[in-house]
Amino acid sequence: MKSRGRSLSLPFALPPSIKSAQISVLPEFYGAEPIARGSWNRLEAFQPSVLIGYAYDLTRLADAVEKGDILLTTVDRAIYALTDVGTPVIDDALRHKLWRVFGVPVYEIIVAPGCMLLAGECELHNGWHLQPGIEAHCIENEIVYETGRIAQAYTGYTGTIDSSRCECGRNTPALKGLHPLIRHRQARPPALPLAS
Ligand SMILES: [Zn+2]
Repeated sequence: MKSRGRSLSLPFALPPSIKSAQISVLPEFYGAEPIARGSWNRLEAFQPSVLIGYAYDLTRLADAVEKGDILLTTVDRAIYALTDVGTPVIDDALRHKLWRVFGVPVYEIIVAPGCMLLAGECELHNGWHLQPGIEAHCIENEIVYETGRIAQAYTGYTGTIDSSRCECGRNTPALKGLHPLIRHRQARPPALPLAS
């Protein structure tokens, strides 16, 4: 396979024989077959066990499969949903849709510009484990990733950072209970009428 740049590995152990397809250009995952957005005939010909893609494309793919526009019966391992840092994590509606259509678990992977993985969802769905070398802090209630390459990546999310041991076997802290941060702006005192 022709490489388009620096390939990343999924933060999950998959046998090399597993066929995976990614319906996104970047970041490029090692061993995954790139499928252009909407090229469902190519995906149908490839028949992968694993899908990788952004919520936008996964939603459209699930719709196409549900409508019978594409016959995809081989997805039997997992779906990895990519989410750019700073944008909302995938919602339960998409998880339910993907489960209904494909019947496999969904694991979300948080990525940052420059093809960097920040966190991957726990295989037991106990939050999102930080990738090795990535740290996270809570700054004014907001989860902020710290990496060596980009100074800080703000998420727009609040939540907790759990450093306790996880039964899934990953030993990095996990972000949990993520939900959008609502900033309460300080109410201004009413403007006083100008003295005449
Ligand atoms: Zn875990």
